[in-house]
Amino acid sequence: MRARAATGSAGATSRTATGAAAAEQAVTGQTATGPAVTRQGATADPAPLPPAPGAEQHVALDFANSELTSRAGRLDLLATPDAATRWLIEHELAPDDAVLYEYCAGRLRELRAQLRVLLASRIDGTLPPAEAVRAVNTALTTAPAASLLHWDEAHGPYRAPAHPADRVAEHAMAAIAADAAELLTGPDGERLAACSASPCNRFLVRTHAARHWCSVRCGDRVRAARAYARRTQQAKRSGE
Ligand SMILES: [Zn+2]
Repeated sequence: MRARAATGSAGATSRTATGAAAAEQAVTGQTATGPAVTRQGATADPAPLPPAPGAEQHVALDFANSELTSRAGRLDLLATPDAATRWLIEHELAPDDAVLYEYCAGRLRELRAQLRVLLASRIDGTLPPAEAVRAVNTALTTAPAASLLHWDEAHGPYRAPAHPADRVAEHAMAAIAADAAELLTGPDGERLAACSASPCNRFLVRTHAARHWCSVRCGDRVRAARAYARRTQQAKRSGE
């Protein structure tokens, strides 16, 4: 896995972006649905969005954002077993030689749907359905999420996540669920927000109170839409 050589946050960014691009190609190649939506002469988004604020600290947030809607249409980074496998490997939640089947990819997508419900409830201050809480707890208890202790001559003692060849999805879901529980109950839970640049549906951790956009691109779009609305209003007034 070439991309695994990259380390650090910059590496994580490029890994994610590469994965998104690859998945976009995969999805585009496979489905005729999800056409590029254009409006007001806008063109389809030129490149995948970088991870939303907080997504590099919280894999659960990035996981929730693996289903995204943009002007280019809906993009599901877990749409196929191959895409889901790639996503897990890029996020170091599965070994490089992992193979997922559709059944596992489907369970990942189901956990993601429940996680999105939980994040939305946290943001809205509402009580989520018990089913959504249960989904996280099932993932938490089906496999150990903790990194295990290893000890050898070359490295001394170190911790590494368990990556058994079987139950890859269970271990990945346990790690995601553990992070989700921490995110929802920890200090970043207070700063969770949904991107306000329609149609974007990504979640983010607000870096400051005024920030409600997941990316520069979404912020620019909101500003452009406001400017367009202002111009339209002015044109309407002068035409009256
Ligand atoms: Zn956004």
